[in-house]
Amino acid sequence: MLRRERALILRRFAFGETSLVLHVLTPSFGRVHLLAKGAYRTTSRYYAVLDLFDTLELEWSHGTGRELDTLRAGDLAVRRRAIAADLGRYRAALATLELAGLGAQEGQPSPGLFARVERTLDRLAGDVVAPELALLAFELGFLDELGLAPALDRCAACGRRAPAPASPKASSVFSPGAGGRLCRRCAEEARASGRRLLTLATRTLELAAELAARGPEALQGRISVGELEKVRAFVVRFLEYHLESRPRSYSQRPVKVAGLRGSVTP
Ligand SMILES: [Zn+2]
Repeated sequence: MLRRERALILRRFAFGETSLVLHVLTPSFGRVHLLAKGAYRTTSRYYAVLDLFDTLELEWSHGTGRELDTLRAGDLAVRRRAIAADLGRYRAALATLELAGLGAQEGQPSPGLFARVERTLDRLAGDVVAPELALLAFELGFLDELGLAPALDRCAACGRRAPAPASPKASSVFSPGAGGRLCRRCAEEARASGRRLLTLATRTLELAAELAARGPEALQGRISVGELEKVRAFVVRFLEYHLESRPRSYSQRPVKVAGLRGSVTP
């Protein structure tokens, strides 16, 4: 059965002398594992087509019960060359693909996840938002896609809206297990029942809520490096709690945003 769809490469490995194994993300078929025979030959029709970060148009033959489907044709739909030219953008793009790979299942349509990955790669190929901010927005969107978005501006237990902070230094109680922020009453109940709670700056939660609702463009130039690091540390901690593993690209790189001073610039 021939299938044709847009695809993003999640991972690729050499296979034999001249072939490639690709793990790709597609909107309709979720994660697909493909064998690209002869991909490394200069005469191959996919030569210089099968690159990370680009949107591809692939055609493959699908067989039930086979471990690898066979790639038949591949074209480039959107080239994002700028990502590989900048280390910060490159790393953020790799982390995006790795996280997408943890969320994508074989045979399970993932149009929302696909769209979010594409939008993030577009941002990383452009120069409007800082790569760390684009990645953070993806991490929040990824949680939303999995139905795990943390409650940030309301109580995760009773649903009541969180009151406006009394001061810029106000803190809020957050429960990863309950799925988000807790109001004072629910926090007391949770504490009494021995649940593990975090105390976070309310500002951190509000920045995360704004990022999730309005996208990284809305925060670009308005969030300081220190604030971005705090939001990221919290979001990564929440991700790890739910994924029960630390993605590889996260352990190689400290969550701390390196090499940036002052306000966040692309
Ligand atoms: Zn509550």
